[in-house]
Amino acid sequence: MIRRLLAVAIGLAALAIAAPVAPSAQEPSSSLVLLPDRVFDGERMHADWAVVVVGDAIVYAGPATDLVTRTEETRELDLKGTTLMPGLIEGHSHLLLHPYDETSWTDQVMSESLAERTARAVVHAEATLRAGVTTVRDLGTEGAGFADVGIKAAIDKGVIPGPRMLIATKALVTTGSYGPKGAPEHQLPKGAEAADGIDDLARKTRNQIGRGADWIKVYADYRWGADGTSQPTFTQQELDLIVEITSSSGRYVVAHAGTAEGMRRAVLAGVRTIEHGDGGDAGVFALMAEHGVALCPTLAAGDAIMQYGGWNKTTDPEPARIQAKRAGFKLALEAGVEICFGGDVGVYAHGDNVRELELMHEYGMSRSDVLHAATAGNASIFGLERLGSIAVGKLADIIVVEGDPEQDLGALHRVRMVIKSGAVVHEEETWN
Ligand SMILES: [Zn+2]
Repeated sequence: MIRRLLAVAIGLAALAIAAPVAPSAQEPSSSLVLLPDRVFDGERMHADWAVVVVGDAIVYAGPATDLVTRTEETRELDLKGTTLMPGLIEGHSHLLLHPYDETSWTDQVMSESLAERTARAVVHAEATLRAGVTTVRDLGTEGAGFADVGIKAAIDKGVIPGPRMLIATKALVTTGSYGPKGAPEHQLPKGAEAADGIDDLARKTRNQIGRGADWIKVYADYRWGADGTSQPTFTQQELDLIVEITSSSGRYVVAHAGTAEGMRRAVLAGVRTIEHGDGGDAGVFALMAEHGVALCPTLAAGDAIMQYGGWNKTTDPEPARIQAKRAGFKLALEAGVEICFGGDVGVYAHGDNVRELELMHEYGMSRSDVLHAATAGNASIFGLERLGSIAVGKLADIIVVEGDPEQDLGALHRVRMVIKSGAVVHEEETWN
């Protein structure tokens, strides 16, 4: 069976090589036999498995002892001491932002040119891929217009290295809610697109879709309360309309929401995921579980922002905001809400995506649940049927890490090899 499989696979590989590719695009390997210590397939860990990649797909994943035939054309990699797993799927990135301790969000939006922001995003995309993140859901350009459309195209065409991208373009906010804000007589550039009422929202939602948005992002609440608190923005009717239009195009809506009421409206409207969820209570988490809405808790962003504000994690007591975040995350888990891996990376450095996974574990998830969320879990939430699993027929988005992440998530910092669509896009030199 395996013999026949490999023969077919190698035939397919020959076809793949004959197809023309862009000069700078990495060609898929003809046939790659990967022999790690263990394989995490997206659901569970398997000792002594082998994985075979031909073209852009996985053609075998199973016991290494069953692999009897190898040919000259296969490149066989002995990956002792490693774990092979699906490429990570980051659920909440902003490739067009860089850490706020370097430059505040407001200064990035107000003072950095589109060219500078795009150049930075190119660097961020490569850092993300090298860290083992082969897919990102990038949730808004934060004032950089439709720049994510071009970055995604450049990656897909092999012009620059980077993860595959699901993009949200400008995102939707209500008039008066979003920043940057200044003197009332000035019309400042905004970090997202303002839209209000049925006609305007319909037009702007459809326009973002038409220009390349894979997801529509809405800010269901924001810090526009009289005392600077977060308060709901869009009405229920407005959110319902956005979801109706977006789902009729075959896409999902994602909602930024940090108040229980904003979250409740978003869930009732039918969004796919809720981002942050800091003000969630047991009632709204139960509603999310009931409606199958996932939570991207963005633990690492809150953690980073508190540290930028002076919190010394090793010597200072835990701030109230972090304690509240821990308690809220626990409530969500207890309610059975599906947890998405999404850290709001960009607030902290691109390539440090694993910080979110470590905090998910620290705040109460088991390591295997964390690994699942980062791979098969996010693939399922985002509707990416060919990603997130190591199984026959899936796209070969694969990473090889040193150690066993089910015992120590720190292994995810030691990415030795990254394969995207069957092409080796990063390999530590010591392995050559
Ligand atoms: Zn964000």
